[in-house]
Amino acid sequence: MADFADIAAEREQLDTARAIEAARRRSPSAPVACGQCYNCDEPVDAGLAFCDADCRDDWQARRRAEGRA
Ligand SMILES: [Zn+2]
Repeated sequence: MADFADIAAEREQLDTARAIEAARRRSPSAPVACGQCYNCDEPVDAGLAFCDADCRDDWQARRRAEGRA
């Protein structure tokens, strides 16, 4: 039978995995949102890192080209 420490550790792993999954869904491989589009510097809504999918793709392609992916 698992003790409380095991249960807590298991719980924590599950929460971390869920948080990572949620972040990936929101914006795959995107940087932290800062209120500005990382690609064109336009202001964007809170929680967003790019103004649209094109900007995200452009930024990701450029980052790959720069060898920072
Ligand atoms: Zn943009």
